[in-house]
Amino acid sequence: MGKALLVIDMLNDFVDEKGSLYVGEGARKVIPFIKQKIEEFRKEACPVVFVCDSHEKDDREFEMFPPHCISGSWGSEVISELELKKEDKIVKKRRYSAFYGTDLDLYLRERGINELFLVGVCTNICVLYTAKDARERGYSVKIYKDGVASFDKSVHEFALQEMKNTLGCELI
Ligand SMILES: [Zn+2]
Repeated sequence: MGKALLVIDMLNDFVDEKGSLYVGEGARKVIPFIKQKIEEFRKEACPVVFVCDSHEKDDREFEMFPPHCISGSWGSEVISELELKKEDKIVKKRRYSAFYGTDLDLYLRERGINELFLVGVCTNICVLYTAKDARERGYSVKIYKDGVASFDKSVHEFALQEMKNTLGCELI
C-alpha cells in the first residue's frame, strides 16, 4: 500500500501577503518545510496532491468569509514558491474538506494509497476537515506539525489536539 502528500490550500489568497484572505506570517514560515516534503515524495515517486480552494463568484462560503480563491483568479493559484509538476494531482474543492464533491478518494484508491501526509493551511479549517473525512474513509493520516499553520495560535493548537485525540491522526 502506498502513501501520498496532500498540500492543502497553499494558494495566493491565503499565503501571499497581497491575498484576500491572508493567513499571516505562520503560513509563510511553513513554505520551506513543505517544499522539502514535496521533494522527498517526488524522489520516492509517491503522489503529491495539491488541494486547492476554487470557488464560484457567488459561492455560499462567502456568507462566512470574504471572497477568496475564485476559480481562474490569481488568488486561486498555488504560490509560485511551490512549483507544480505535470505529474502532480490537482484537486479543486469548494468546501473545507478535500473529499467533499471531488474525485480525491477515487484517485487515491485507484493507486492503492492508504496513508496520507498532510501539510498546508489552515490547521483548524481545511486541514482539520480533510483529516476528518480521510479518517472516516479509513485512511491512516499523519500531520506534519511543522508543515501546517493557521491565523490564530490557539485554534491551531486545538485542531492539532483534536486531530490526534478525536480523529486518531498521528502528529509527526
Ligand atoms: Zn474557501
